[in-house]
Amino acid sequence: MSKHYDLIAIGGGSGGLSAAERAAKYGAKCAVIESGPMGGTCVNVGCVPKKVMWYAGMLAHAVEDAKGYGFDAKTGALDWDTLVKGRQGYIQGINDWYHTYLADSNIDEIVGTATFIDAHTVEVNGEQYTAEHIVIAPGTQPVVPATPGAELGIDSDGFFALKEQPRRMAVVGSGYIAVEIAGLMRALGTEVTLIIRRQHVLGNFDAMLREVLMEEMLSAGINIMSSMEIEQVEKAADGSLTLQCSGGHSLSGFDSLLWAIGREPNTAALNLPATGVEVDKAGYIPTDDFQNTNVAGVYAVGDVTGRAALTPVAIGAARRLADRLFDNKTERKLDYANIPTVVFSHPPIGTVGLSEDEARALHGDAVKVYSSRFTPMYHALTEHKTQTAMKLVCVGAQEKVVGIHIIGLGADEMLQGFAVALRMGATKKDLDDTVAIHPSSAEELVTMR
Ligand code: FAD
Ligand code: NDP
Repeated sequence: MSKHYDLIAIGGGSGGLSAAERAAKYGAKCAVIESGPMGGTCVNVGCVPKKVMWYAGMLAHAVEDAKGYGFDAKTGALDWDTLVKGRQGYIQGINDWYHTYLADSNIDEIVGTATFIDAHTVEVNGEQYTAEHIVIAPGTQPVVPATPGAELGIDSDGFFALKEQPRRMAVVGSGYIAVEIAGLMRALGTEVTLIIRRQHVLGNFDAMLREVLMEEMLSAGINIMSSMEIEQVEKAADGSLTLQCSGGHSLSGFDSLLWAIGREPNTAALNLPATGVEVDKAGYIPTDDFQNTNVAGVYAVGDVTGRAALTPVAIGAARRLADRLFDNKTERKLDYANIPTVVFSHPPIGTVGLSEDEARALHGDAVKVYSSRFTPMYHALTEHKTQTAMKLVCVGAQEKVVGIHIIGLGADEMLQGFAVALRMGATKKDLDDTVAIHPSSAEELVTMR
């Protein structure tokens, strides 16, 4: 006999857990099915371990910078093992907390891979479970190209499994993961070569952010090879990797190669045809504004929907779905416009709203841009200096702020409050009328001319 629930979430990541947690608060009987460690990508091989590594990189810079402030600081060799053990211990704590939390919340944890039998029945390890509502939240997995020898490289999951710090690392790709890992590994002392197939990193971001980040990466000593694609990966007799690249270029001597060229939906095991749930050409599950798939009672949230692949987006969509299904909030849904995001590069980027190019394409001459570029005061006494650059994209006679773009120290923590202002329809005058906080970098955002 199958066990029946009000809601089953497939995937114990940001989306699935949030749907079950919120539904259970309303008294719904819920289960979460997870084939791997609880917490999903963000907790285990994403945001959390990445941010720990990013902090380590920031500390490495801080030790260098401390010398200018008079400290007899020495950047000793990094003990990779201590860093990785500490990081994994922290993650284990989160995993353990989840098990207790789910049990305390009366949510059943089902360990294994879910496969649909029909739109309201799933099978895990030979047992069947049925539910009124099924939330599909299996996330995505890294893409590795079909390039000969590609298996000699690793993906971001493999990066977090590294037992030793690479000495010379090649990073392929130009998105979030490529620039984040290239930046933090360089900060930790690894020689990094970033290989991108176009001229710029972060293709969809405002041009100012892309340009300043590339300058900062070069200034930090990252070797950027642009307009280059890898055609073959070979292992040399000494175990190092050689990359045969387009244009007859050959790059050699790497002890690690990281593919960071995007991710693909994790739907292969689900047997979606049994449900009638449609997928798009790339395999993502499209939904309407309310996270409904084309099949009644079956929903999708998070990365598998192909929309902004960010943890707070998965959480926000899942919680609102549960509010709608179990708290009678029939119009509750996530607003996917103006989602703020941070790239944990060195220095970090914070961005929300339209890039200048996007705004000009939509609003033409009605666009007015304010920008500023400076060396933050933190660097007054440091030898190595990073730049901060900011841009406000405004539209119309009222100068409504439609885009805010920041790169520089503190950008990661600066953006959240400004994203609220943008969402509320702030104008340039509203920013001007706000008293500045001095001395800070953020004050530039309310004093730009
Ligand atoms: P996931 O978190 O991927 O969870 C899906 C879960 O479903 C997985 O645990 C998987 O094991 C399980 N699963 C899959 N199929 C089945 C099945 N058939 N049966 C049972 N279980 C199944 N986002 C940010 O907002 N900030 C960041 O700083 C950030 N950094 C990142 C760094 C990296 C390296 C990566 C890879 C991602 C990062 N992200 C970040 C993105 C973020 O991790 C995702 O947006 C988020 O995890 C998506 O949540 P999800 O619930 O859709 O999927
Ligand atoms: P992204 O989609 O961010 O970037 C991948 C990029 O790699 C593509 O845009 C493309 O850029 C380039 N690329 C694609 N194929 C190839 C190829 N064959 N050879 C060389 N380059 C290629 O993917 P990521 O894997 O970096 O990250 C996945 C998602 O996870 C992100 O989009 C983001 O939503 C989320 N994430 C969020 C983070 C955060 O919030 N801080 C951190 C990490 C991930 P181009 O076309 O310009 O070459």
